[in-house]
Amino acid sequence: MRPISLRRSLDAVLDLLAPRRCAACDALDPEPSGYCAECGTPPPLLDISCHLDGTPVFAGSRYGEPIASSIRRFKYEHAPELGRVLAASALRGVDLLGVEATDVWVPVPLHPLRLTERGYNQSALLARELARHARGRVDARRLIRLRNTDQQAKRNRLGRSQNVAHAFAVRRRGPPRRVVLVDDVVTTGATLCACIAVLRAAGDEVIGCVAAAYADAWSM
Ligand SMILES: [Zn+2]
Repeated sequence: MRPISLRRSLDAVLDLLAPRRCAACDALDPEPSGYCAECGTPPPLLDISCHLDGTPVFAGSRYGEPIASSIRRFKYEHAPELGRVLAASALRGVDLLGVEATDVWVPVPLHPLRLTERGYNQSALLARELARHARGRVDARRLIRLRNTDQQAKRNRLGRSQNVAHAFAVRRRGPPRRVVLVDDVVTTGATLCACIAVLRAAGDEVIGCVAAAYADAWSM
């Protein structure tokens, strides 16, 4: 049996065990994109979304439906399996940022209390999918979150910056590396800027950031 046939057979068995569902509305039998025909496929972004302190940021899609529902379910409705669909839309970032196999993928960390509550770090799941594609590795322990900051979505731009100041630290063993930061949604960029600052201070080179979606502060 050729590998491709084996892969298809495995997919068929997995579909029987856990049928495929739309990432946004949970309807059965979605399109290959992971979304049903009614929800539609999120329009992809094709270029760098913005720069934060000189670091390029690529997001797979603009924040809006159906990706907003998909991200909400991913984070708040215990649907870690959606990481695969959400990461797929951001894969273009691997090429755009010139990521190499030796680069380290670092997710924005959750505070340990939030991690326990949720059971997984959604950014780490995205990083895992992206790293698999880039044949790189994830270092989910490189950054730690020192403060259990309130949800960013409720704050304006200034409030977000103040909220995440001094919220992160580097817990690194080993030499400095080229790093790609991963977050679920980029809004004002305050969280990513705070992470970039501590990684740079520790000697790492942050070559870029990848997120599933890019939102204006007021569209959240
Ligand atoms: Zn749907």
